[in-house]
Amino acid sequence: MRSDPACIFCKIAAGDIPSKKVYEDDEILAFHDINPSAPVHFLIIPKEHVPSLAEAGEADAPMLGRILALAGRLAREQGSPDGFRTIVNTGRVGRQDVYHLHVHILGGPTPLPGMIAKA
Ligand code: AMP
Ligand code: ZN
Repeated sequence: MRSDPACIFCKIAAGDIPSKKVYEDDEILAFHDINPSAPVHFLIIPKEHVPSLAEAGEADAPMLGRILALAGRLAREQGSPDGFRTIVNTGRVGRQDVYHLHVHILGGPTPLPGMIAKA
């Protein structure tokens, strides 16, 4: 399995750094964002180190599909019963901060603010 010893999400996936877990299986981990931007805000990551969506390839398709297929169930369980927003910040232009692929799930009981600031 690809892993980067300097990567904070690899350390979380390995259990070396604690996280508030939402879901875990052999391939995928979901945990609460440490700095939430919405009443519900958690991240779904592959345990394997894939730096970003820009680096994902055909071989990653099943993992990416599983992450998206889990999102609805986990969002409902976490208190976002009527929809949610998925964000995958990618690379410099996408303002990605942590270079281990992650899908943000944002939601809550009421609608989120507009999608993106026009600045
Ligand atoms: P980005 O790479 O910009 O899509 O966002 C990285 C996200 O990871 C941010 O929302 C951070 O708050 C979150 N984050 C960084 N470190 C941790 C951590 N140790 N536990 C949980 N979330 C984290
Ligand atoms: Zn990593």
